[in-house]
Amino acid sequence: MQSPAESLRIGHGYDLHRLESLSPPGSGRPLVVGGVRLDSDRGPVAHSDGDALLHAVTDALLSAAGLPDIGQLFPDTDARHESRDSSEFLKEAGEQVRRAGWVVANIDATVILEKPKLSPHKAAMRSNIASALDIDSSRVGVKGKTHENVDAVGESRAIEVHVVALLVRS
Ligand code: MG
Repeated sequence: MQSPAESLRIGHGYDLHRLESLSPPGSGRPLVVGGVRLDSDRGPVAHSDGDALLHAVTDALLSAAGLPDIGQLFPDTDARHESRDSSEFLKEAGEQVRRAGWVVANIDATVILEKPKLSPHKAAMRSNIASALDIDSSRVGVKGKTHENVDAVGESRAIEVHVVALLVRS
C-alpha cells in the first residue's frame, strides 16, 4: 500500500479578472462564473469567456498533478482560445489529471465578488464543475464572499477566486 505522501496531492488555484462595463462602451464580456451567466452590467476583461472560477479550478487540478498551468496549456495569445467556453479548459485538465493517474477527491472554491449575490447560483456552479470533471457535485464546494466595498474587488472592479483541490491516486 502506498504511503499517504504518495497517494495524495493538494493543489491551489487562484484567478482574478478585471471587471469593466459591458462592451460597448467598455471591454467587459458577459459575466460568467462557474459556467453560469450572471445578471450584471459589468463583466471580465479576458481572451476566453473570462470564467475566473473555472480558470482557478483548472489551475488547482493541474498544479496538484504537477502538470503545466492553464496559461501554458491554453495561451491567451492563441486565437483558438478567443471567447472560448472555459468548461473546455476544465474538461481537458480533468482528462490530463486522469491520464496522470489521479482522481479528484474534492474541490473547494471561494469566489469573491461584490455583486450580484452568488447564493442563487451556487448549486448550478457546483453541478457545472462536477459534470465537466465527471464527478458527483457533492465533491465540489463553492462559497461566495463580498469584499466589503473596499479595494478593487469591493468596488466591483475585479472578481477574485481561490480554489483548493485534493487528488488521490487512482
Ligand atoms: Mg483567468
